[in-house]
Amino acid sequence: MKKIVILGSTGSIGTQTLEVVRDSGDIEVVGLSAYSNIGLLEKQIREFRPKLAVTGTKELAEELKVKAADMDIRIAYGMEGLLELAQMEEAGLVVTAVVGMIGIRPTVAAIQAGKDIALANKETLVTAGHLIMPLADKYGVQILPVDSEHSAVFQVLHGEEKKAVSKLLITASGGPFRGKSRAFLEHVTAKDALKHPNWAMGKKITIDSATLVNKGLEVIEAKWLFGVAMDQIEVVIQPTSIIHSMVEFLDGAVIAQMGTPDMKLPIQYALYYPERKYRYGERLDFKKLREITFDAPDMETFRGLPLAIEASRIGGSMLTVFNAANERAVDAYLNGKIGFLDIYTLIEEAMAAHRAIDEPQLDEILAVEQDTWRITEHWISRHSQ
Ligand code: NDP
Ligand code: MG
Repeated sequence: MKKIVILGSTGSIGTQTLEVVRDSGDIEVVGLSAYSNIGLLEKQIREFRPKLAVTGTKELAEELKVKAADMDIRIAYGMEGLLELAQMEEAGLVVTAVVGMIGIRPTVAAIQAGKDIALANKETLVTAGHLIMPLADKYGVQILPVDSEHSAVFQVLHGEEKKAVSKLLITASGGPFRGKSRAFLEHVTAKDALKHPNWAMGKKITIDSATLVNKGLEVIEAKWLFGVAMDQIEVVIQPTSIIHSMVEFLDGAVIAQMGTPDMKLPIQYALYYPERKYRYGERLDFKKLREITFDAPDMETFRGLPLAIEASRIGGSMLTVFNAANERAVDAYLNGKIGFLDIYTLIEEAMAAHRAIDEPQLDEILAVEQDTWRITEHWISRHSQ
C-alpha cells in the first residue's frame, strides 16, 4: 500500500488529492496539514485516519486536540509540525500542496528524508529550484509535477530522450481578463479576478492566473523541472485549457497532452507514476469541441510574464524577490488595499530595489523574503486605497 503525507490537505489541491485517494482505495494517508481550517481537517482526520495532523498555530492545535480527543492521533503545529510531517517514517511520498514559500523548508526536509515529492507548491521551485533539484538528485528522490502544464510535459517526455527536445510549449488560458486593456484592468476588483473561466483553484493562484504571474512562475518551474533554457520555453494562449501543454522535438514533431480541465488527472498521475490508472470522469468529446484556438500572450498588458522572465534572467535571489513581492501584493489586493495593476508595480519596485545574490542558500532566500516583505509592506501602507 502506498503511504502518503499531504501538506495543505484543506486547500484546492489537497482536497482533490484526497478525492483521488478516496476513489483509489489503495493509498494510505499517514499525515495531513491545514493552516486554520480545522473544521475540515477534523473531518479529514475522521475519514482518512492519519497518524499525525498539523495546524498553523498552537491555539488551533489545542482546539483540534479537543475536537479529536476520541482519536488516536498526534497533533502538532507550525513549521516544526510541517517538518515533522515531511519526514514521517511511514510515508513514501509527500504531496506539497501548501501555497507560497512556506513550502521550501518542508520540501527540503522531505527530500533529505528520502521521500518522493508530488509537487504542486510551485513557489518553492521558483525560489529554490537551484537547491531542490540537485538535492533530489543527491537523495535519489523523484520530483513529480502536479501542476497541469508540467504534468503534461512530463507525460509527453515519458520515454523520450531529453536531447531530442527542441522546446516546451506551455499553454495558458489567459485568465478572466484575456483581451482586456490596461484601462479596463485599473478598476477590476478581486471578486472579478476570482472568476477563472476554466479552473476552480485557491485564491492566490486564481489571482496569479489573472495577472499571468502564474504563467511566469510556471515557465521558471518548467526550467527547473525539465532542465531546459528559458529561451526553449514558449507560452501559447489556448483559451479553453484543453491542451495542457506540448513539446516540440528536434525533428519538428509536436506532441500535446490533452484532457478536460480536471486537476485530479495530473494529481493521480503523480501519485501512481509511472503507472496509469483508470479514472472516472468526463472525457473529451472532439465532435462537440469542434475547434481548439491559439493566440500569443499580451505581454504589454499582462506584465506578470515578462517580469518573471526578467527575474529569471537576473536569477539567484531576484526570483525570491519576484515571488515574495507577488505573494504580498496578491494578499493586499485580495484585502482591497491595492488595485490590480499595483501588483505589477509592487513587483517592479521590489525588484528594482534589490541587488541579486547568485545561488542563494536557504537562509539567504528566507532573509531576502523578509526584506522583500518589509519593502512591500511599506509600499502598501503608503498607497493603500
Ligand atoms: P489553497 O489556498 O486552496 O490551499 C492552500 C493550503 O495550504 C491549505 O490547506 C491551507 O490551509 C494551507 N496553508 C495556507 N497558508 C499556510 C501557511 N502559512 N502555513 C501552512 N499551511 C498553509 O491553494 P491551492 O490548493 O490552490 O494551491 C496550493 C499550491 O498548488 C500553490 O502553490 C499553487 O500555486 C499550486 N497549484 C494549484 C493548482 C490548483 O488547481 N489549485 C494548480 C496548480 C498548482 P487552510 O485551508 O487552513 O488555510
Ligand atoms: Mg498550472
